[in-house]
Amino acid sequence: MDDSLDGAARSVGVVGAGAVGLTAAYDLAAAGADVTVYERDTVAGGATGRAAGILYDAFAEDVDARVADRAIERFRAFDGRGEFELRDAPYVWFVTEPGAKADAIRKQVEGMTRNGRRVERIDGDELAARFPALRTDDVVEAAVAEDAAVVDTSAYADLLADLARGEGAEIRTGVEASVSTDPPRVNGDAHDAVLVAAGAHTERVLADAGFSVSLKPYRVQALTADSPGDVPTFYDATEGYYARPHPTGLLAGDGTEEVEADPDAYDRDGDDWFVSDTTARLADRLPGYDPDVERAWAGVCTATPDRDPLLGELDGGIYVAAGWQGHGFMRSPATGEAIAEQILGGEGIPAFDPTRFTGDEEFAIVEGMAVE
Ligand SMILES: Cc1cc2nc3c(=O)[nH]c(=O)nc-3n(C[C@H](O)[C@H](O)[C@H](O)COP(=O)(O)OP(=O)(O)OC[C@H]3O[C@@H](n4cnc5c(N)ncnc54)[C@H](O)[C@@H]3O)c2cc1C
Repeated sequence: MDDSLDGAARSVGVVGAGAVGLTAAYDLAAAGADVTVYERDTVAGGATGRAAGILYDAFAEDVDARVADRAIERFRAFDGRGEFELRDAPYVWFVTEPGAKADAIRKQVEGMTRNGRRVERIDGDELAARFPALRTDDVVEAAVAEDAAVVDTSAYADLLADLARGEGAEIRTGVEASVSTDPPRVNGDAHDAVLVAAGAHTERVLADAGFSVSLKPYRVQALTADSPGDVPTFYDATEGYYARPHPTGLLAGDGTEEVEADPDAYDRDGDDWFVSDTTARLADRLPGYDPDVERAWAGVCTATPDRDPLLGELDGGIYVAAGWQGHGFMRSPATGEAIAEQILGGEGIPAFDPTRFTGDEEFAIVEGMAVE
């Protein structure tokens, strides 16, 4: 045990071996804490293993931009370690109708520029010249963020699990965790602090421990298909779907259902309507492409009332890290780091303080990539 942790949590229980829990576990263990991770399934058995693996910094607000910057910096530092590889892929987002969404893209670019992000507006002709596979004749507003990439999300989780173990953390898989308080405990084991990073189950795990948090799980879908040629990662904000280059050729997604899902009883396969809508949109946007779908699946994300995460201490040494609105993987190196620092006595990210909500707020689920 590291003596430099005087006054800070020395023993930490982490519920959830997704990207966030594992990043926090690694950082905590590297700082000298005694870390045990409790995972009901396998490493990356939750949303992390079902995510699209898109990393970008298309966040306009100051706090979000700093988090994204730090996350990409750390992802790049992990590149090439173990099986984890990062592939640069600029992120293009556009609308095909004038109006509020076009205005929102312009504002996003302003905010990102103010925050030092490498981004610029681009017109349809420039877009076509740069990415010939994309049909751009109907694009009315577009931007490209250069500091974006794609990765295999399970490879990241595996790497962080290995690194955490290397720092002495114990990762127990196949263990359903139950949290209690005074002192913080997981399955009866007492810790100085417990971090609940249980993805779509976070609200239930905390409710059993007596905490009410404003989180709603919702189902989203993705598919993989053969290659349409050289494409950037792109998001059509008018139609509401995205695509990225992928080892099979292409990964496309969205299919968001803006209703609360049951994380224990959702359909893990992609719906027929999602596959047919998405392949039709891809064929329209990528002329000459007739997608041959390899696999379609669903996973569960979590929404909050203000679309910002719940990251910080609830009370009495119980911490939460959840509510990523579909953007939890790409920010995990920074959010996991921030919560680890807070557990060890730092200030964390005050804007994401989970106690800003009482837990009984009424709110609608909004798709995380939505431009508005
Ligand atoms: C189809 C799809 C595409 C996505 N694409 C992207 C993307 O491109 N970029 C991006 O940034 N994000 C994306 N996301 C969102 C991303 O997957 C999540 O935000 C992120 O993985 C959340 O990580 P996490 O560690 O918080 O949660 P999770 O990965 O869900 O990990 C939580 C873990 O807790 C475990 N657990 C739950 N309850 C218990 C319990 N009682 N005891 C023990 N363990 C428990 C679960 O089994 C799980 O392994 C996508 C999501 C989906 C579904």
